[in-house]
Amino acid sequence: MTEAPKVGFVSLGCPKALVDSERILTQLRMDGYEISPDYAGADVVVVNTCGFIDSAKAESLDAIGEALEANGRVIVTGCMGVDEAEIRALHPRVLAVTGPQQYEAVVGEVHRHAPPPAVHDPYIDLVPPQGIKLTPRHYAYLKISEGCNHHCTFCIIPSMRGKLVSRPAGDVLGEAERLVAAGVKELLVISQDTSAYGVDLKYKLDFWDGRPIRTRMKELCAALGSLGAWVRLHYVYPYPHVDEIIPMMADGLILPYLDVPFQHGSPRVLQRMKRPAAAENTLERISRWREICPDLTIRSTFIVGFPGETDEDFDVLLDFLQQAQLDRVGCFTYSPVNGARANDLDGAVPEEIKEERWHRFMQVQAQISRARLRGKVGTTQQVLVDEIGDEAAIARSKADAPEIDGVVLIRDGEHLAPGSLVEVIVEDSDDYDLTARLAG
Ligand code: SF4
Repeated sequence: MTEAPKVGFVSLGCPKALVDSERILTQLRMDGYEISPDYAGADVVVVNTCGFIDSAKAESLDAIGEALEANGRVIVTGCMGVDEAEIRALHPRVLAVTGPQQYEAVVGEVHRHAPPPAVHDPYIDLVPPQGIKLTPRHYAYLKISEGCNHHCTFCIIPSMRGKLVSRPAGDVLGEAERLVAAGVKELLVISQDTSAYGVDLKYKLDFWDGRPIRTRMKELCAALGSLGAWVRLHYVYPYPHVDEIIPMMADGLILPYLDVPFQHGSPRVLQRMKRPAAAENTLERISRWREICPDLTIRSTFIVGFPGETDEDFDVLLDFLQQAQLDRVGCFTYSPVNGARANDLDGAVPEEIKEERWHRFMQVQAQISRARLRGKVGTTQQVLVDEIGDEAAIARSKADAPEIDGVVLIRDGEHLAPGSLVEVIVEDSDDYDLTARLAG
């Protein structure tokens, strides 16, 4: 693997500027950068300035000069950034100047001058490839752990990223709180295995705002739900304790959305994949979850054509799909990953059969998704506006994660601002998306 580029960071000024700095640093970390503790080891240095009073300005200009001298590659942001001419008059060599709260702009400049790790690796990265582009400021990925204790035969993450290492709950919640304070409306909880959160720390008692909190999925979800933002859970395996989370979804504390990578419906294939929670009776669990939380959206991913998958296994999978009635589904044909143990399994499925199964799978699921979306026509939904297009606002409902699910087009929403939460009435649907108009 190529080494991650390093960013040096100097943060000056008030608590608001600090929140901005943390928002920028969070984004840079998500984009694969490392934060350098010193100027010398950094590929580029960001100086978040303060321009409140003259002495603060002088301090900011000094800090820029110091970073230029020690490193030479400096990007300026923050309050003083509104006066680019003043900065350039003294320090003409700065690479770029951006203003306060311009997270996207400053991170964009870092990308330009020290490009992020070039390739998105679909086998190891948590964020979808499009996630490499900057997330708009109203949603943010919140990584709660790194690595994984499982040994799925098609996966190389444990050998690349190591065993599960959870971040203590106080740490995660501190970051979440700062993100919400900086304007984030939706927190996307990610990890390789969200249900295993805290196992490595033996659910250690941590502290958040002086209060004790266990480093465990249930407690973390409850605390995140208290922050007033949408909280969406990704990469959840259906262990029994996930049942405890569903009532929080029914109560509106966290979004009624579960991203569960089932990967297959045939127990025989799941065993060959060595999937976690493969022995659980998944269909029964799903129907119990829906009894508790009827609005629950379940998204999942599947692999067809895994070595040894027979026609019968595939029929079991299609039957699973029909019964599970999942809302959002992605499907991949199996392809060997360098270093994965599945490469040694016998029973490779010929490419044309993989393709044929993929098409049949997608047809079945498209019908299911279409029917489930049609059921939403006429309902009122709360949606989060992502951007304003030529003829409509592009938003997402609680059932849609950014980048991977569908969207809600608001026909009369051109005047809305990205990041706003509004109520809409759904008027139409297709296989993936909804069309709506503003309610009231
Ligand atoms: S649970 Fe399986 S697929 Fe997911 S990261 Fe761990 S080993 Fe890989």
